[in-house]
Amino acid sequence: MDQDIIKCALCGLAVEIEGFNAQTNEGLKRFCCAGCLSVYRLLNGDEIIEEEQ
Ligand SMILES: [Zn+2]
Repeated sequence: MDQDIIKCALCGLAVEIEGFNAQTNEGLKRFCCAGCLSVYRLLNGDEIIEEEQ
């Protein structure tokens, strides 16, 4: 069965734990951890529409 592997939008590692998401101008971004999400927010904060917990 094919399973889509979700990759972290920042570091490219497979996202094994869901829940670190941010809705951006480019669509929903998923992150592998809170660290990647916060770094992305620092770098691209103006693209983030809302964060999902
Ligand atoms: Zn990551």
